[in-house]
Amino acid sequence: MPELPEVETIVNDLRPRVEGRRFTAVSLFWPRMVLEPPVEEFCNRLPGQAISEVARRGKYLIFRLDSGEALVLHLRMTGSLLLRERNASGSEPVKYITAIFTLDNGLELLFRDRRKLGTASLLTDEREIARKLGPEPLNPGFTTAVLRERLRNRKAPIKAVLCDQKFVAGIGNMYADEALFRAGVHPLRPANSFSGDEIKRLHRAIREVLRKGIANSGATFSDYRRPGGERGNQQNAFYVAHRGGQTCCVCATPIERISIRNRGTYFCPTCQGSATCS
Ligand code: ZN
Repeated sequence: MPELPEVETIVNDLRPRVEGRRFTAVSLFWPRMVLEPPVEEFCNRLPGQAISEVARRGKYLIFRLDSGEALVLHLRMTGSLLLRERNASGSEPVKYITAIFTLDNGLELLFRDRRKLGTASLLTDEREIARKLGPEPLNPGFTTAVLRERLRNRKAPIKAVLCDQKFVAGIGNMYADEALFRAGVHPLRPANSFSGDEIKRLHRAIREVLRKGIANSGATFSDYRRPGGERGNQQNAFYVAHRGGQTCCVCATPIERISIRNRGTYFCPTCQGSATCS
């Protein structure tokens, strides 16, 4: 599932090619992906609007429009956004397309989504999505003190808390597992059980794994692709995420997989200590 680094990569790739362009048409092959406004209105209102900026908030992709509105996409589990020449000769037909957004420069954006859980909204005020989200972990305002304060009253396992978009935006299964490995923290530790030093380590680890994920253009395990169709590289750099059955590259202990609130969670039982002691 695309997380902050994957969505940031998509934004970085799209920016130079779509900013300043105008939507000329939209074709929906899975109209249920549109959350708001009603589908017909969505299809009428978008064409003609120019993209002033492409941005990310949490795992949301935002196309800010010159009207002040915003086209907001969420890729959920299996969505990706491909940019290609319209009717490119020789291009292979793409499966699982749920929407095509046509631009005025001969390019089109294809929303490809095998499980069809991705969404699109045309919002008059994009702050609507900000209300559902916690702080951006890479913003300067997300300090160790902010993390400490937010952890204080949370008793849930730290893995579940890190994946809660209201706690901090953009982190999901993969980067939560990696951050906990890097911080040397067991994923089942109650979020309010950390010492000051551990919170510092966790804060640094969160930022490091996200930055590394962006530098490696995201992780491709199944569906995620960059807009040009390329895979990311971060999957080769993970220490624990999706590495069940392999051994820890630090201590050679087999990496374990457990389920925490229905999330597959990978960790090294040696490097990441115990679930209870602090
Ligand atoms: Zn280890």
